[in-house]
Amino acid sequence: MAVKENLAEIKETIAQACENCGRSIDDITIIAVTKYVTIERAKEAVEAGIKDLGENRKEGFLEKYEAIGDEVNWHFIGSLQSRKVKEIINEVTMIHSLDRKSLAKEINKRSNKPVKCFVQVNVSEEESKHGLQMDEVEDFVEMVKDYENIKVVGLMTMAPHTDDEEKLRGVFRQLRALRDRLRDKHQAHAPCEYLSMGMSNDYAIAIEEGATHIRIGSSLVGQQN
Ligand SMILES: *Cc1c(COP(=O)(O)O)cnc(C)c1O
Repeated sequence: MAVKENLAEIKETIAQACENCGRSIDDITIIAVTKYVTIERAKEAVEAGIKDLGENRKEGFLEKYEAIGDEVNWHFIGSLQSRKVKEIINEVTMIHSLDRKSLAKEINKRSNKPVKCFVQVNVSEEESKHGLQMDEVEDFVEMVKDYENIKVVGLMTMAPHTDDEEKLRGVFRQLRALRDRLRDKHQAHAPCEYLSMGMSNDYAIAIEEGATHIRIGSSLVGQQN
């Protein structure tokens, strides 16, 4: 399927989800996750009107960035090794995977301006998933106050791979409640307005539960080309 057709379908689903919960479609940023696909396919997404691209590995990120450049926003969504920070820091618009002090320290050191970061949270407590535990997040956000180049713009999670809608809603709701609590502290270094949650399988539910940034790979650009 052409990306354009997939995007039209996804936008209809987003519109319906927004209607279900009284939100505006303009509040949702669609990040096209291009980690499975070629540069050509990523370009096709941009031509279809996508303004935000996401990659989860440094190599794929740089390859796509070099081919496409600054006409879109660049999201780093995968676990990030500290030693690789310097290679992407000037290209990245937002990092969705801030999950430890050593990474915050490295981002702070390597950037010469504040970097918009989502703190990644392992809400479902699956061992295979990255991210802080729910009860570690507030202290972590407090700690990064000392790092002038870290701006905590929101929280990110990956929901468990399941069709159990109530379970998914539960995960998204917990993240939202934590986001609300942090946002309501009105801290300059952590406005914490955003929620990066929802992928191909669960983005409609995520939107109903408050997602502002959805990360869509397979159903938008495909698994492979
Ligand atoms: C791959 C990936 C996605 C997109 O997953 P799909 O199920 O293909 O939509 C979203 N977020 C992260 C962190 C990913 O690694």
